[in-house]
Amino acid sequence: MFVCKECQGVLVPIAIEEIPEHLSKEKKLLYNRVCDCECMNCGKVYYGQPYDGNESLNVVRKTKKLSE
Ligand SMILES: [Zn+2]
Repeated sequence: MFVCKECQGVLVPIAIEEIPEHLSKEKKLLYNRVCDCECMNCGKVYYGQPYDGNESLNVVRKTKKLSE
């Protein structure tokens, strides 16, 4: 369970990364998905949070910026 850094509110997942289809069965099991979470209290959104129980995830995922 994740907690908002701003208000200690509860974060709920609003989007979960899909496991790439081309991975083998074994790799799919090892794949650590990330999710986007939203604070139920203040509405702050946290992107790229570890979803599959990997709390110490330090991997920086490359994200594609939308047009600015
Ligand atoms: Zn909050």
